[in-house]
Amino acid sequence: MWDAFREFVKGAQSILVGYGITLREFFKNPVTLQYPWEKAELPERYRGKLQIKGFFDEKTIEKKSDYYKDSALAPCMKTCPAYTDVRGYITAIAERDFLRGVKILKDTYPFSGTLGRVCPAPCEGRCARGEAQNVPLTIRHLKRFLADYERSLPADSRVPYGKEEAKDCKVAVIGAGPAGLTCAWDLARRGYQVTIFEKLAVAGGYLVTGIPEYRLPRSILDEEIEAILALGVTLKLNSVLGRDVQIDELLSQNFEAIFIGVGATKPMKLGCLGEELDGVVAGEDFLMQVNLKEPFKLGKKVAVIGGGNTAIDCARVARRLGAEVTILYRRTRFEMPAEEHEICDCLDEGIKLTILSAPLKVVGDGKVEGVECIECCLGEPDSSGRRKPIAMECTEFIVECDMVLSAISRSPDLDGVPDDIRRTSWGSIEVNALTGATSREGVYAGGDATLGAATVIEAIACGKRSALAIDNYLKRKTGDH
Ligand SMILES: Cc1cc2nc3c(=O)[nH]c(=O)nc-3n(C[C@H](O)[C@H](O)[C@H](O)COP(=O)(O)OP(=O)(O)OC[C@H]3O[C@@H](n4cnc5c(N)ncnc54)[C@H](O)[C@@H]3O)c2cc1C
Repeated sequence: MWDAFREFVKGAQSILVGYGITLREFFKNPVTLQYPWEKAELPERYRGKLQIKGFFDEKTIEKKSDYYKDSALAPCMKTCPAYTDVRGYITAIAERDFLRGVKILKDTYPFSGTLGRVCPAPCEGRCARGEAQNVPLTIRHLKRFLADYERSLPADSRVPYGKEEAKDCKVAVIGAGPAGLTCAWDLARRGYQVTIFEKLAVAGGYLVTGIPEYRLPRSILDEEIEAILALGVTLKLNSVLGRDVQIDELLSQNFEAIFIGVGATKPMKLGCLGEELDGVVAGEDFLMQVNLKEPFKLGKKVAVIGGGNTAIDCARVARRLGAEVTILYRRTRFEMPAEEHEICDCLDEGIKLTILSAPLKVVGDGKVEGVECIECCLGEPDSSGRRKPIAMECTEFIVECDMVLSAISRSPDLDGVPDDIRRTSWGSIEVNALTGATSREGVYAGGDATLGAATVIEAIACGKRSALAIDNYLKRKTGDH
């Protein structure tokens, strides 16, 4: 009798908790209404702000169907490109054994502090707690907590990276972004002598040149990079593949294997008239100038074209520097690749979001004076799975501005990569997805250079996978296996 009553109270409690959460979610992110059809009825302040989230979307249905197929790995772990042992480090936190949690993370990658701040956290989308109660654990923040906890300790209390006995074998890494640095870290721990060749005067790739400092403090990133170098990794800055170093030369200089992690650093053109006008700048270039404290000229009224991370970062940086900023995006807010909380922050900071607006041309006489746009509606999903924007006739309008930041996408710049290393049809390096092996023996590649514009955790996963493959390759080559 007592047990039945307890079960009843538990059941009622969980229903109430579910409702409370659902309603909170509902009010934070109410239902999407599609502009422009609602344009007439909707008050201006709601346009572009409305969105379904956390309800019965396709993802949830897919989740329910294959959720417990493989019980060996927790769903959050299976979803992480680097297979981080989320369950392990969260259990360690729950048991207040923080250093055990730190060790789990430090055995996985050298960037917990960075990922704890910028990872899009696909794990949270597959969190078992999210499945049960509609709100996932804040996995990314728990990771950040562990990284920050370790930083708060004196140096001699921190968890050291283990390192195998030194091997007489050299490996070259091209590019010091998260892919290259992770590969170097993993190989150095396996005892290899690693040299990184980096084009810029600074290491970190887009972690340092793209992501603004308010999202990823430099001190955190610098410490993580220094810890990698402290394993004995040599870093050669201002060394450009194709100009200062060549793949063939490296192979003839006793480097037994090479990892190419040159990223996707070629900003995509807008492909519209007026792109050559003074005041049209690639978003990545603008962010790099601001981040590296180089001189730059900011407009008073800035239009940012795009809906991803780069667009949001450009908009917020320009706004924080005093510009009046409008983001132009051709789909709705629901399809924007940027993270939801970043979009909310943008709006809170006074940035205008104009959705369902496709740029037709940049107008001006030598200098940017505005962007001519056309209103769109959404059609059937395209190859990206998102609904395709369809321009609506006679709805052209001009957004006045004196600077345009284009942030639509970027592709790999493979100028220095020899032609015999095969490319995919869309211009990235072709690799074996499991190992990162390219078409040239001993040469591996990963990160944005192979995936196109992706994420930090994917770049890290590529670096790790290739380090393991290089280790196997070199052991086979030297007969040490
Ligand atoms: C503005 C912006 C914001 C972003 N925000 C996020 C975010 O919040 N979360 C997230 O997960 N991802 C984010 N990303 C994406 C993420 O930064 C990238 O996916 C990741 O950095 C890719 O890592 P990578 O090592 O492959 O390439 P990169 O980080 O691009 O590093 C490549 C390195 O190779 C060097 N290099 C290039 N060519 C040569 C050459 N010829 N010779 C020698 N070196 C060379 C480059 O200088 C660079 O240092 C963002 C990207 C941008 C641009």
